[in-house]
Amino acid sequence: MKIAVIRGDGIGKEIVGEALKVLNAVSKKYKVNFNLNEVLLGGIAIDKTGGPIPQETIDVCKASDAVLLGAVGGPKWDNIPSNLRPEIGLLGIRKALGVFANLRPAILFPQLKEASNLKPEVLGNGLDIMIVRELIGGAYFGEKKRIDIPGGQKAWDTLSYSTPEIDRIARKAFEIAGKRGKKLTLVDKANVLESSRLWRETVTEIAKEYKDIDLQYMYVDNASMQLIRDPKQFDVIVTENTFGDILSDEASMLTGSLGMLPSASVGDGKVGIYEPIHGSAPDIAGQDKANPIATIMSAAMMLRYSFNMNEAADDIENAVSKVLDKGYRTPDIMREGKQLVGTVKMGDLIAESI
Ligand code: NAD
Repeated sequence: MKIAVIRGDGIGKEIVGEALKVLNAVSKKYKVNFNLNEVLLGGIAIDKTGGPIPQETIDVCKASDAVLLGAVGGPKWDNIPSNLRPEIGLLGIRKALGVFANLRPAILFPQLKEASNLKPEVLGNGLDIMIVRELIGGAYFGEKKRIDIPGGQKAWDTLSYSTPEIDRIARKAFEIAGKRGKKLTLVDKANVLESSRLWRETVTEIAKEYKDIDLQYMYVDNASMQLIRDPKQFDVIVTENTFGDILSDEASMLTGSLGMLPSASVGDGKVGIYEPIHGSAPDIAGQDKANPIATIMSAAMMLRYSFNMNEAADDIENAVSKVLDKGYRTPDIMREGKQLVGTVKMGDLIAESI
């Protein structure tokens, strides 16, 4: 099993190190070999090679079975030309591997109920929402331009989607909903955006093939409010790139911390990208304060979706749960009466628990 490992910038190095520790424990327990290949992406790639996405990185990732990624970016690279920024590396690798569907589960561990900003009665017995975000289209990838005009400049980003782009992500979402609560909510802005109207028409048409799924429609402004008011109403949400980016960060806070949530990016090809949903957190980088659980849970998703190692994935998730049960907490999820630990100790505890 070949894994391309991208630590990236900021806390990326630290959290990926802990996920590798956990994979090492899995490798020993199940007597399997993970063939790891470390490659550069983002700010560190700019520093060492002059660009955010070296060709070697693309080649190694394409020749792997999966990519485990930390995070990229940071203030050091904030003021360089936009076509050279670290984020270009991230968008580039997603595009190169054709991973058009980003699966972002927002699961509330019962042990962390008190870390959520919502009242216990709103959370009930926990939350389990899956956000399926389109990842390689929309405004982030559309034509961007700036021109000089009297009085300053004018800038635009183009938001466009085609029927095939919507079709493939919608089918993924219907299939995922079929394996869960059989409810799918399409989030869009069809009252004002033409691209959203095409999403609605396309998804409505596809729904005829998935008669057991209850399809609902919701405008994005309402969805952002409903996620706070009554998050339990959602099972699977499917939406375009920008809306998905924003809503999944919002959903993550319902579960306590950005540091808890993994993601999987998959397409029709064989290589999936597994990464936490958070960024490189420059404010806490190098201080042993980052929560490695999102990355460790991303490694569990990798075992499940890319390697069919469901039992090992369960082991990782159970290990996380056990360590939380024992009261260990990184600073982002720390509460009175719990045991504060750093990034490395949290990784050690989870690996020992496997
Ligand atoms: P961020 O997700 O890095 O951080 C937001 C807040 O959450 C910070 O206070 C941070 O300390 C905290 N946080 C994030 N991850 C945490 C963890 N594992 N444990 C504990 N606390 C955690 O978002 P930002 O501050 O908006 O962006 C910082 C940099 O990361 C920017 O350069 C941005 O472009 C980049 N970024 C990268 C990705 C990615 O690589 N996928 C995603 C988002 C942002």
